[in-house]
Amino acid sequence: MRFDLITIFPEFFVGPFDHGILRRARETGLVEVNVQDLRVFTKDRHRTVDDRPFGGGEGMVLKPEPLFEAVESLLGCSVGDASKPGTADPKTAIVLMSAAGKLFRQETARRYAELERIIFICGRYEGVDERVAEHLATEEISIGDFVLSGGELPAMVVVDAVTRLIPGALGNEASSQNESFSAGPASRATSPQGKAQHAAPLLGETVDALGRMNLESPTTNHVLLDFPHYTRPAEYRGWGVPEVLIGGNHAEVAKWRRAAALEKTRRNRPDLV
Ligand code: SAH
Repeated sequence: MRFDLITIFPEFFVGPFDHGILRRARETGLVEVNVQDLRVFTKDRHRTVDDRPFGGGEGMVLKPEPLFEAVESLLGCSVGDASKPGTADPKTAIVLMSAAGKLFRQETARRYAELERIIFICGRYEGVDERVAEHLATEEISIGDFVLSGGELPAMVVVDAVTRLIPGALGNEASSQNESFSAGPASRATSPQGKAQHAAPLLGETVDALGRMNLESPTTNHVLLDFPHYTRPAEYRGWGVPEVLIGGNHAEVAKWRRAAALEKTRRNRPDLV
C-alpha cells in the first residue's frame, strides 16, 4: 500500500509515522508513505496556494490548480477536464479530507485496506475549491463531527486505521478481528482465519474456535465496542479486577466479556445498541 499526503505543511508528518505498528509496516515494506509539498506545484514567485473566496466572506480557499497538478504528477497521468474527464483507477483512492465529507468508519478503513494506493489531499484555511471535491477526489471524508484547522491530522488518523488492517501489520493477527467495530456481518461470514463461527441468537454474538467473539447488537445489527481489558496487578489502589477473569474458566470469561461489552456499549455509545 502506498500513501501519498499532499500538504502545505510537509514537516507536520515528521514523527507520527515513526512509531509502533506504522514504523514496522514501513520498515518491512508493507506500506510506503510519501509526503508531497503542495507548493512545489505553484508557479508564482510567492508560491501561492490560496486565494480569496468568490462571493465574498471570511478566509482563504486552496486553489484548484496546484492540487490538480500535484495529484496528476503523483499519478503520472492527467485526470482530464470538463470536456474529457479521465478514468479513475479502482485500486487508487484520491481522498479529500473535509469536515463536510462522508464519515470515516471502521468499514471505510476495511475498504481502503484493499486498495493499492491512497492519495490524501489535506485542506487548510476555509477549505478547498469545490472543483477538487467534484472532479479530482474520488471521495470526500470527515473523521468526525468537529472542525479541525487542517487535513493533516485527519489524514494521519486514516493512514493509521488502514495500516493496522493490512495483513501482516499487527504482531498478533487476531487483534484487528476482535476489537471495537471489528467485524461486520459480511466480513464475519468469511473470517480471514477460516475458523468456524457459530451464532448465539440471543445477543447476536459469534464466537470463534478460540473463544474470541464479535458482538452484535440484537436490535440494530451494529457491531459493538470491545470488552474491557485488565492486566496485572490484580488489585491497584484498592480497585480489583473482576474475579471471573482470574478464575481461568474460559466459558465464564467469554460470558462475562459479552455482557461487559454490551454494557459498555450501552453506556458509551447507546446509538449502537
Ligand atoms: N470551512 C470548513 C472547515 C475548514 S477547516 C467547513 O466548515 O467545513 C480546514 C481543513 O481542515 C479542511 O479543508 C479539511 O481538510 C480539514 N478538516 C477539518 N475538520 C475536518 C474533519 N472533521 N475531518 C477531515 N478533515 C477536516
